[in-house]
Amino acid sequence: MECNRCDEEAVMHAAYSGAHLCESHFRESVERRVRRRVRRDDLVPGDASPEDPQTWVIGLSGGKDSVVLTKILHDTFAKDPRIELVGLTIHEGIEGYRDESLAACVDLTDDLGIRHEVVSYEEEFDIRMDDVVEDDPENMAACAYCGVFRRDLLSRYAEMFDADLLLTGHNLDDEAQTALMNFLEGDVAQIAKHFDASLGPLSEREEQEEFVPRAKPLRDVPEKEVALYAHLANLPAHITECPHSSEAYRGEIQQLLYDLEENHPGTRHSILSGYEELAGIVADQYAADDERDDLRECIECGATTTRERCRKCALLESIHAV
Ligand code: SF4
Repeated sequence: MECNRCDEEAVMHAAYSGAHLCESHFRESVERRVRRRVRRDDLVPGDASPEDPQTWVIGLSGGKDSVVLTKILHDTFAKDPRIELVGLTIHEGIEGYRDESLAACVDLTDDLGIRHEVVSYEEEFDIRMDDVVEDDPENMAACAYCGVFRRDLLSRYAEMFDADLLLTGHNLDDEAQTALMNFLEGDVAQIAKHFDASLGPLSEREEQEEFVPRAKPLRDVPEKEVALYAHLANLPAHITECPHSSEAYRGEIQQLLYDLEENHPGTRHSILSGYEELAGIVADQYAADDERDDLRECIECGATTTRERCRKCALLESIHAV
């Protein structure tokens, strides 16, 4: 099959748009979607200047999503002195997994000439995820511990680096899954928070002074296209799955979305665009004001929380008590 835009052979077919694209037009189309999202979410403020550049910290795991995001942002802003990129890798202490993906991050940032920082659970919290999984003091899935620690480090270090933005490589599949899970759980407050935390134009979000704003510029690109882009661009992405990956409910939703997309191409796009519009309205009305009024500092670490002791400190206490 030929590319719709030239005589070259197509390397991909997107059922949701009907497009058949050759390698160069496919790569161009992924890059265009990321740049369009950067524009639509107003990520570069009008008053950004080379004298006072914006620092964008990218959560760089070494997986295909964060590697592709870093590469495209680098290519977009390499000659723009208003934006400085920093790759931030979190090492969870997972044998045979994170060391390889860390090597991918080092290769990529060396190649692109981007500042790269690594922080580990071991140095920060004196724990390793392999041990946490074995002891499991709270009888929870590995990701329920790990997500709390990762979010804490990403926010804390983004703040330490004086970041204007914290960017993550969530793709269309990730975000459509999260949207559907929030709907199915009937969690309207969570939908409002999701919008304010990372979706929609920065100017339309409820301001949260306590946190560095987040952005997900890869969220218009389906997971398979991100993987194909990484492969075609010969990027050093690490593709092995984490041995502790355990989000069973998300896995069910993922399968449901695969099936829906197969029979009704475009389902993920329509879920996400409808969700974002609704989430914006809900965020305006809900504004999670009640909860924000309850925000205070954790008595242990000073992090912003709604409880006396934040979730991270509570989990660390129970892990260290084993
Ligand atoms: Fe942590 Fe779960 Fe991700 Fe593994 S899959 S790195 S346990 S959040």
